[in-house]
Amino acid sequence: MTYPMKLASRLDPIKPSITLAVTAKAAKLKADGIDVVSFGAGEPDFDTPAHIKDAARAALDKPGVGKYTDVAGVLPLRKAIAAELSAVHKTTIAPDQVLVSTGAKHSLFNLFMALLDPGDEVLIPAPFWVSYPDMVMLAGGRPVILETRAEDDFAVTPQQVAAACSPRTRAIVLNNPSNPTGAVYTRAQIEGLAKVVVEKDLLVISDDIYRQLVYGDAEYVSIAAVSPELAKRTVLVDGVSKTYAMTGWRIGYTAGPLALIKAMTKIQGQSTSNPTHISQIATLAALTGSQDCVGEMRKAFDERRIEMVKLLRAIPGVTCREPKGAFYAFPDVSAYVGKHSPEGAILDDDVQLCDWLVEVGKVAVVPGSGFGAPGFVRLSYACSMANIQDGVGRIARALASLV
Ligand code: PMP
Ligand code: GLU
Repeated sequence: MTYPMKLASRLDPIKPSITLAVTAKAAKLKADGIDVVSFGAGEPDFDTPAHIKDAARAALDKPGVGKYTDVAGVLPLRKAIAAELSAVHKTTIAPDQVLVSTGAKHSLFNLFMALLDPGDEVLIPAPFWVSYPDMVMLAGGRPVILETRAEDDFAVTPQQVAAACSPRTRAIVLNNPSNPTGAVYTRAQIEGLAKVVVEKDLLVISDDIYRQLVYGDAEYVSIAAVSPELAKRTVLVDGVSKTYAMTGWRIGYTAGPLALIKAMTKIQGQSTSNPTHISQIATLAALTGSQDCVGEMRKAFDERRIEMVKLLRAIPGVTCREPKGAFYAFPDVSAYVGKHSPEGAILDDDVQLCDWLVEVGKVAVVPGSGFGAPGFVRLSYACSMANIQDGVGRIARALASLV
């Protein structure tokens, strides 16, 4: 007999993270000895650079390391973050406007918890990173989804933002470059959005976790840098997971209006306290040490990006916009939705298609539905070239077998 557990109703609309679920499924199949190629995880395959690990290792022997730190993170790290973000966003950020958390995911969670009253609305352009709507709902808010089109390179327009605003709208999430589409906003697009944000008196939640991963002629344009008016109403969310291959160290940070950072720090102080001390030391080394590793990893991602897009575009019926940032390709596979597998199953939607691809095709990709974009799938190219060639080949052969 199991205990009849009653769970909090706030969890009713919440889904598990599909990116983590797909990654876990592929890992389990691999652990069972099955040869699966995984494009699931949004995680660099590189090791954390040696100088960052060395700094953490050396720190372990120093007295006081491994104790609680300031809830918001150690001052030298907050100073380094404030200096870097001030330079990137052409504004002045003080160390007490910075909160270091257990990954940018935690930063965003603290942010929505600190910001939203029940029923407050947050504008989220789709395709969106899977966790935004669920985090907003966990905080009692209402996600308002703004659909974008592949033909427009998935850019949300100022007109859409204006039309979606209600008296309850508090903020817009801008994830630039985007997970899952790899889209990067142009300067003109950022300036257009900046205008409507001021007109509608919105806060901008600028999730910049991929800002250093842009390719070709694309450039990252900061909305906070557009004008002092924008700087004061932008919360910057950033971190080291993607840029420095530090996903497991779990360090992200937020910089923004002092009152908001203080409120978020209060929440953090009543929940997790400081993020891991040793990870803070590693992050300081990442931010202040040589940046060569960033350029090297970016170059490798770029080569993989070009190869993956080329291979995907060669599959009949599949279209794929050029991703200009982050490390994801987001092809439209809707031509294959509704087809029958050779085993006789109807693959009615992208979720079933992805389930079949992993079970039968032995290749894991994330269904677009999780990102608010049915008919698409997401592939991470933060994996080896051999993986890309083998895995996309598997997709091509599997799709060709559908009738
Ligand atoms: N924002 C986006 C857009 C992401 O893709 C992720 C996932 N890595 C995060 C935030 C959170 O990253 P982390 O918690 O590893 O810092
Ligand atoms: N953000 C990465 C992804 O989208 C890692 C998993 C997660 O936290 O969602 O795959």
